[in-house]
This record gives sequence, C-alpha cells and structure tokens, in this order.
Amino acid sequence: MTESKIHDVIRSISNVNNGDFLENITCALARVIDADYVFIANLDDDKETVKTLTFCADGQIAGNISYPLKSSPCEKAICGEMCIVSENVRLSYPDDKLLVEMGIDAYAGMPLIDSQGQTKAILVAMFETPLSSSKDAESLFLLFSGLICKELEKNSYVDKLSLAKKVMEQSKSGVIVCNSDAEIIYTNQAFSNITGYSQQEVLGSNPNVLSSGKQGSSFYESMWDEILTKGYWEGEVIDKRKNGELFPNWLMISALTNEKLETTHYVSNFYDITDRKYAEKTIAFQANYNALTHFPNKFLFEKLLQASIDELSDDRKLAVLLVDIDFFKDINDFYGHRFGDELLKEVAKRISLVISPGDTLAHFGSDDFAIIVNNIASQEQVDEYVNIVMESFADPFVINDINVKSTISCGAVCYPNSWPELDVFEMAEKAMYRAKGKGRNRSCFFSEVFHKNSMRRTELKNKLINVISNNGLDVFYQPIFCTKSKRVTKCEALVRWRDGDQWITPFEFIPIAEEFGLITDIGKIVLNKACEFLRELKDIGFTDLVVSVNRSVYEFPVNDADNNQWVDVITSYGLMPSDFCFELTESVLAPDKSNSLTMLRNLQYHGSTIALDDFGTGYSSLSYLRRFPIDFLKIDQSFVKEMTGNFDDKIIVSTIIAMAKTLNIKIIAEGAETLDQVRALTNLGCDYIQGYHFSKPLPPVNFIKYITNFTGGD
Ligand code: C2E
Ligand code: CA
Ligand code: CA
Repeated sequence: MTESKIHDVIRSISNVNNGDFLENITCALARVIDADYVFIANLDDDKETVKTLTFCADGQIAGNISYPLKSSPCEKAICGEMCIVSENVRLSYPDDKLLVEMGIDAYAGMPLIDSQGQTKAILVAMFETPLSSSKDAESLFLLFSGLICKELEKNSYVDKLSLAKKVMEQSKSGVIVCNSDAEIIYTNQAFSNITGYSQQEVLGSNPNVLSSGKQGSSFYESMWDEILTKGYWEGEVIDKRKNGELFPNWLMISALTNEKLETTHYVSNFYDITDRKYAEKTIAFQANYNALTHFPNKFLFEKLLQASIDELSDDRKLAVLLVDIDFFKDINDFYGHRFGDELLKEVAKRISLVISPGDTLAHFGSDDFAIIVNNIASQEQVDEYVNIVMESFADPFVINDINVKSTISCGAVCYPNSWPELDVFEMAEKAMYRAKGKGRNRSCFFSEVFHKNSMRRTELKNKLINVISNNGLDVFYQPIFCTKSKRVTKCEALVRWRDGDQWITPFEFIPIAEEFGLITDIGKIVLNKACEFLRELKDIGFTDLVVSVNRSVYEFPVNDADNNQWVDVITSYGLMPSDFCFELTESVLAPDKSNSLTMLRNLQYHGSTIALDDFGTGYSSLSYLRRFPIDFLKIDQSFVKEMTGNFDDKIIVSTIIAMAKTLNIKIIAEGAETLDQVRALTNLGCDYIQGYHFSKPLPPVNFIKYITNFTGGD
C-alpha cells in the first residue's frame, strides 16, 4: 500500500463538515482500493436488516439501500472480525440477491465496533472483478475503521443531544439550568412563555429574579438545604412574572454531579399551576356556595351554624331564620326559569342588604334561604329582625322591566332553647311550614305555644288517620230555615269526631286534614253518609230537603276527568244532584284555581247548587260573585252575631243582602242564636236562616225528630 493512498483518504476527510465525513471517506476508500461499491451501513434494531448510511457506487454517492443480513457475507462480518472473499463471492452466498443483481465477485466487510464493544455498523467494499490482492482493502479498513466508529458515535451523541434539546425546548414545563454558582446558563421556551422573560434577559442571573417575596428566607434555606443534602427538592412556590403578576408553580430542582460527585449544574423544572389552583378553588366554591347567588349553600350553612353554636356565650343566643318565597313555583312556571333565577338573585341581594354584617345569609337552592342571626339578646330582637326581613319585600322586584310583587314565609327559632333534643334547623323548618300553612306572607316563631300546637297537630293527624280508616267519623245535620215558607227546607252536613269522651271540633281538625292530605277522605265519608241519610229521609217522606255539604279547596280534583266524582256518588244512591248544595269558601275561587270553576259549572249543570260560605271574612270580592256561578251566599256568623247591637254590622248585612238580590243570589244567614236576630234577618229580606236559635247540628235520629216536630219559625 502506498502512502499516497493513505494521504488521499486523509485529505478527503480533513476540513470536512460533520455531515460530509462519512460520504467523503466512503468515496475516498472506494477510490483508493479500486472498489466498485463501498458503503457504511447500520444494523437495524431487529438485527435482521442492514441499512446504508452512505453508499458510494462507481466513485459517486448514490442513494441508500437496505438488504437482509441473512445469507449475506455481512452476516459473517458482523459476528467475526473481517470478512474478505477475493472472488466468486456469489458462489459462497447464492441466496444473497444483492450480490447477484449487482454482479459482485469480490467482497470485503468489516465490523465497526463502538466504544462499548458493540457492533452496530459495518464497512463494506464490493468488487465486480476478482481481487488480485486484498491487502490494501484490509489495511485501509483497519486504519480508518476507528475514525469511522468515532464519527458514528459522535453522530449518535449529536442526535441524542439534539433530541434532548428539542425535548427541553418543546417541553410544556419551564426549564432553568444553572451552573454550580447558581447562575442561569439555559432556559427553554416554556420558561419564557410562563415568566415573560427571554433567555437573553436572565442568562447569568440567579433564578431568584422570579422570586415573589411570598416565601420567607427560611423557606429558601430549607429548600437549598435539601438540594445540597439530597440532591433534589420539589414543592409549590409562588413566583412573579416579568409583568409583576404572581403565579403558583410546581417546582422540581435537581443537582447534577460529575464523577467526583461535585455539583456541576442545577436543573429546575417547573409548571404553572394557576389553572389547577383555579379549578381547585372552583370546586371548593361549588361545594360550599350556591352557584347562582354565590351565598353559602346548605353544606356550608351547617358548618357555619355549628361554628356559631360553638361560640355561644351565656348571655348571647343565636337565631335561625328560614325564608321561603311564596308561590315561587308559579312565578317560575309563568315567567320562565331565567326570570326565576333573576328573581332569586334579587331576593338574595335584598335580604343581604338588611341583615347585620356578622350574620350569614345562605341559599340552599330553589327558593330556600336561611339566615343565621348571631348575638341575640332577646326574643323581641328576633321578632324585629324577622319584621325587617319581611318588610324588605314590600317593594316589588323589577326584572326585565316586569314588576313582580313577591312575599315570603319565614320560620324562626332561637338557640339554645327549651328543646335541646330537637334539631335547630328542623325547628326553623317546622315554623316556616306553619307560616306557609297559615296562608303565606307571614312569619312563625318556634315557641312554647308553637311547639305544643305542632305536637298537638301531629297527634291529631295520626289519630285522624286511624279514625278515618276505622270509619269513626260521624255527620250531624243542622236545620236551615226558609223565611218564605217558614219550613226547614235545607240542612247542613257537619262532620263530627268523638275522641274518647271528648269532641274534637272541625275548626281544629279540618285544617290539619287539609295540611296532611286527609281532607279528600273526610269529604268522601261525609258525602256518602249524607247520601245515606237523605235516602232515609226521602224514604220516610221528606222528599224536598236539600243537604249542604262543605267542600274544601283541597278536595277539588286536579284533573278534569274526575269532575264527575261527586255527582256519581249522589246518583249511586238513587238521589239527584239537585238534592245537594256544595258549600265552599272563597279560596276555591282564587284566580289560580281554574279547574274549580270547570268543576262548579259541571255540578250546576247536573243540578246541584253552590253556596259561598263565610261571606264577609275573606276577600269578599264582588268580582268573584260576578265571575263565578254562585246560587247562595252564606253571611258569616260574626256579622249576624253583632248585627242587633252594632249598627255598622247591620248595614253590612243589609248591603250584602241587597247586593246579592241584584245578582240573583239567595242569602243564608249563619249563626242566628236569638229570636231578635231571626226577626232582624227576616226583615232585611234574608232567604234562609241557620243557627242555634233553631237548632244545633243534630245526629241523624235527632234531626228526624226535629223536623218531624217542627212547627214554624217564631
Ligand atoms: P261552617 O261551614 O261555617 O259551619 C258552620 C259552623 O257554625 C258549624 O261549626 C256549626 O256548628 C256552627 N254553628 C251553626 N250555628 C251556629 C250558631 O248559632 N252559633 C254558633 N256559635 N255556631 C254555630 P262546626 O260544625 O264546628 O264546623 C266548623 C267548620 O268546620 C265549618 O264551618 C266548616 O268550615 C268546617 N267543616 C265542618 N264539617 C265539614 C266537612 O264535612 N267538610 C269540610 N271541608 N269542612 C267542614
Ligand atoms: Ca258551611
Ligand atoms: Ca260558615
């Protein structure tokens, strides 16, 4: 081998760029050993395929190729040292298609072994003619394989480095690399994105340029202590961006060491956790506050209530107020949910403006609000507080230019109180329901009287359920006197409940039955008993008696389909609907009870009559009388009682009678106890009179006796 050949190769690789090295040396080697082909190839990870990195054919760089290792001379070269076949190589490797296609005759291949002793590449020369001497190829390959190996290794390092750099650059977390003096020598793009500083601005600085001052010096001392002892620290810190904005971030710092275990670098990795913190805060908020009004929800309310209870002193109490908007569902249905939501926000705002600063307003959702009133010294103070809250609803709410007048029902309770065994919230709730039950737009205090009443109501409710199912209710009949015919032509069926040795008045149990949904059952019992009784009366000759039965607003069916149910009961006894008059109070005729109207018309259609009971005690609106199909008007006892002594009441009664006459409605006066009252009513033109003067309500047998013996009015 001549020196010039070596020089030729060396010349080809001096002053070449990194990328050209392999190509140049491949072509130079091909030239000096006179090979038709020379290539450097990598062994694939699967160790089955060989892929050229550079391929020189006929002195020129050609496109790279790949071929299977199996059955090729390279297979041998990779395992052993050098493989040289001076001629007829195709005969030794008949299955190597490449050799055949390229018309190769001689082959020289050599493994390229890296610094770890691994063969990952191969250097190959191929000749179309036999090799007269393989010496040159052998020596030049041996001479330059080391260099090629180094180059390959360097390339692979560079690849890895550039990959690492890419990873750092494209990482979403900020990276800061400092030297051992904690001076910044590198930052990535995410660093700039998060902090607002460019790399240029911070090179050479200490990472404390990001310091927000939110962590004290002791925090940093212990952090550095850990980095220096353990080589690693991670935790949450609040840093400051270039624009002064603070941001929470999760920071991980590692100390890098050399072989002598000296720290050479500090690498910090951090990511902005503002969003996560925000999400955490949002979740915490949602768990504790109402999403619509942002006031504490039930969960937080209970915690705050407990905290307030824990802080009570001997001379200070607290109060819990529950506020419920009257007819909120109707408002919601009528104006829509958006409107309802706006109303709730306004309600919350209004209440919050009148409560004291140390108190808590909570919103449980829908129209349920609660207030914890701290520092209560007396019951009067709570009453006053409740009044203020109620009065805050005096003005209408204006939402989307619509005026809505809203009222509330409020239940209140003081704590501590005489019932340590009861839950303070439930007490307030009971009081609130009572306020609603009493007709809304009012408040109710959970007091001694309230508690007694509520226990009594519960007791009566339970007994009532029993007595209904045991058919234990009776019906008495009170005669109604006709002033024109001077006869008893009607009677009112009144339910009677005898509990042991005492009577419970309907004034007490009817409202309970209404509240607990038992009134319909009572109504059925009364109507059936009245039918039975009238059947009996007719059978013994009292053929023209009309029975009045009372109907509560809660007894009216919700569905039109049930509108015939009372008529059906009556006819099932062989009676006529005209044998009955239904007495109802004005609440049945409220504007929202549209079905009642249909039902009333239906009853009248079948022949029953309708009486408006207790006239003068409710709204007594004349417009009701005109709008609704009423046959009789019952003047309330309170007017009748006073009319003979009180001139005003006499005027009222005479006005009602006159008015009814113009509307073609007949008058029944109730509660006439004296002859004076009966005469006065008769003189005023009253059509019918009912009262103790004639008779108290009587059990059926006594009623029959009464009308059998009845001789006349005076
Ligand atoms: P109401 O419909 O106004 O019935 C008249 C009430 O006045 C009856 O009371 C009757 O006993 C009483 N009364 C009649 N005449 C006089 C009198 O001259 N002086 C005095 N002081 N009172 C007189 P009662 O039976 O206690 O019923 C009370 C209320 O309970 C009734 O008032 C009615 O609203 C309701 N009620 C009674 N029975 C039923 C029923 O079957 N169904 C429904 N829904 N309510 C009923
Ligand atoms: Ca009545
Ligand atoms: Ca009445």
